[in-house]
This record gives sequence, C-alpha cells and structure tokens, in this order.
Amino acid sequence: MQRGGWSVARPNSPRGPPHNVEAVTLPGRANADEAVVFAWRSLPARHKQLLESIGASQWQVVRTPLGTAANEFLESAGERLWLPAVRRDADRAFGVWIRELRIVLIRDGHPKLAGLNDATLEEFIARVAWHEWGHALSIERCPPEPLGQGRRLLELAPPGIGERIREAGYRVQDYTHEVIAETYALLMLRRIKGGTGKPSWLDDEIYGLMQTTTDWTD
Ligand SMILES: [Zn+2]
Repeated sequence: MQRGGWSVARPNSPRGPPHNVEAVTLPGRANADEAVVFAWRSLPARHKQLLESIGASQWQVVRTPLGTAANEFLESAGERLWLPAVRRDADRAFGVWIRELRIVLIRDGHPKLAGLNDATLEEFIARVAWHEWGHALSIERCPPEPLGQGRRLLELAPPGIGERIREAGYRVQDYTHEVIAETYALLMLRRIKGGTGKPSWLDDEIYGLMQTTTDWTD
C-alpha cells in the first residue's frame, strides 16, 4: 500500500521514464504502477511538457477508494476537504485529478476490475491515466466556449463515449471535460497501436478541440 504521507511518485523522478520514449510495449505483468509509467512514457513529448507546465505530471497509485484517499491527501496538505457528495462520487472512480494538489490518483484493486486478466487490466489502468491527464489538460486549457456546449459535443462524441458519460451521471457542465478526457484516452490507445491522423470515427469539431486543448498533432 502506497497511500499516506506525501510521497508522490513523479513520472520524471529517477525511477520514472525518460522523456521522448515513443516505442514501448505494455509491461508483461499486472502492476498498476508499471501501467501508469507505461502510459506516461507513451505520451508525446509535447504533452509531457504541457502536463509538467500545468503541474499535472505527478501521480500516485492507491488502493483505497479515491474520494477517501483524496481527502486524506487534502487533509495532510492542510487543504479544504471534498464535500461528502463529491467524495462519494470519487470513491467509485478509477482515477481522479486533484487540482488543488496537482496530482492524479489512480485506484489499484477497484472491485469492478476483479477478475480481469493482466493485459486487460494494464490497458485499463493506462486508459485511466490517459483520461486523467486529458482531463487535467482540459480543465487548464479548454476555451470557455466549448465548455458551454457540452450537451452538443456529447452528441458528436463517438457513441461509446457518449453512452459512458451519460450513464456515469456527470453534470452537464462536466460533459465537455469528460468528452475531451475520454477522447484523449482513445486517441492515446490508438496511437500506441500505430494509428495516426484523424480517425474516421472522430468528429471534426471534437478533433479540433483536442488539438486546441491537448496540442494533439498526430
Ligand atoms: Zn474525467
């Protein structure tokens, strides 16, 4: 268990990867830490720079529900705790971006992931990490106008993404961030499998938003 205290695993720490590692493969065993390191290594160099510049390159894998873990981090940093409703939502999440502390938390051992094989689990954890980094970029960099267009953007999003966001019960004002974060994770997954350019399944407007918000250049 790595929770507690204030020791944060930094992807750019000595145990972390160097920048500019483009060709990597998924690690061979189910280890959430390794999966997040892999996810970080896979990011385009420009995205790592952006995440470092907004202070979103720190992450930690924890085994407790994330709302509870977040409040422990916030408490030890002397920050205001998340309200019970926010904590409860986050307790069900696979990953959270704690903006106040500039850190992404990833849940290891989530009950919903029980029984997945190693490769599936690692891909899932990597997608959670990409989602959270995409989310952090969106929160810091998304222009105001698309933020007010969440409902419309959700309609334009790839069907799987739209359904997931609706079913998860996000507030309408969160839709745009969620569309960007989910699309970012999908684009990263496609990228590590060799896909480049705008995918045919992605709407032009959302692709443009990815370029603006995350500096997506493939
Ligand atoms: Zn999100």
